[in-house]
Amino acid sequence: MMEKHVVVIYPHPDDESFGAAGTIINYREQGVPVTYLCGTLGEMGRNMGAPPFANRETLSKIRKKELVDACSELDVDLRMLGYRDKTLEFEDRRGVAELLKGILEEIRPSLVITHYPDYAVHPDHDAMGAAAIEAVRMMDPKSRPTVWAQAISNDHLEELGRPDIVNDVRPFFDKKMNAILCHKSQASGILGQFQENWATDDMKEAAKKQLGKEAFYIWHFRE
Ligand SMILES: [Zn+2]
Repeated sequence: MMEKHVVVIYPHPDDESFGAAGTIINYREQGVPVTYLCGTLGEMGRNMGAPPFANRETLSKIRKKELVDACSELDVDLRMLGYRDKTLEFEDRRGVAELLKGILEEIRPSLVITHYPDYAVHPDHDAMGAAAIEAVRMMDPKSRPTVWAQAISNDHLEELGRPDIVNDVRPFFDKKMNAILCHKSQASGILGQFQENWATDDMKEAAKKQLGKEAFYIWHFRE
């Protein structure tokens, strides 16, 4: 389906590149505008290198620059929401939802992509996903965008069943990797993920297996 405008809502710089870059690139190639609402600057990330290349203050600057670069690679409009990393779960959900609702009513997207609350591994992911879904729920049902929720926990298939949307993003894989690699401060973690496959496969193939599909559940609002 041709979307009018897609809004992606995740808490961290790099969530967009790992989670939805292929889907985003596909939309941009169709000329669909995409906006990324990024909750934090990931300044509490544990990855500061050995020896450390950053402290908490410089890490937020570094990750902000990486985020801007990745969004320019993905050709998306970026809005930074300015919450503090690792504290989103303690923010008043209603307050975050109100803020998001205001932005959504301004942009009027046809599709919102976010994390699936309780199946997104990191408390910030769960909190941001819950707030995004709450924001859409608070909208007039006639003008609500469709919501695609991304589950990443190991148990999600067992608990939620098969995802409704499975995008094969291998045609956009090189561009997706370029976006991921903009997040250089996170790169050692990224490479580490594929190290177990190192002996049997080359890294690109291993990465393709893990990152070549982007899956989402369509959120159903009961009221
Ligand atoms: Zn994240």
